[in-house]
Amino acid sequence: MAIRNILKDGDEILRKKSREVTEINDNILILLDDMADTMYKANGAGLAAPQVGVLRRVVVIDIGEGLVELINPVIKEQTGQQTTIEGCLSIPGIWGEVERPARVVVEALNRKGEKITIESEGFMAQAVCHEVDHLDGILFTDKVIRFLDEEELDRMEQES
Ligand code: ZN
Repeated sequence: MAIRNILKDGDEILRKKSREVTEINDNILILLDDMADTMYKANGAGLAAPQVGVLRRVVVIDIGEGLVELINPVIKEQTGQQTTIEGCLSIPGIWGEVERPARVVVEALNRKGEKITIESEGFMAQAVCHEVDHLDGILFTDKVIRFLDEEELDRMEQES
């Protein structure tokens, strides 16, 4: 297990489309472990493989309810709408409001190669959408409807 370097906005890798995982080999398992370590070290709620420079469709999320690993995630259903406040480990110090579906159903593979279906709402739905966007080279700042101002950022920092 190891902490990997998180790429920052401006790195062209973050704008590329990631490829599907065709075989869950040791490299993918090590990637999953390293991504979880890296996410926890950075106090993030989610991390996508391109953020550590690997253009594979792999995501880890932990919104405080345990680690979720998604390989080749596909959003199958999305309903409703919520306005979220988002940040990104690749875009430090920037927060903004984004419109996301209120509920999503995502299909993926787990590390054993088993097909899993996760239905999520609220913060988890937000995290799934944010991370899956990374796999298509999309950053939350592309979708922001309003950036938080300095006063709001100060408040966010005090809370976190
Ligand atoms: Zn992000």
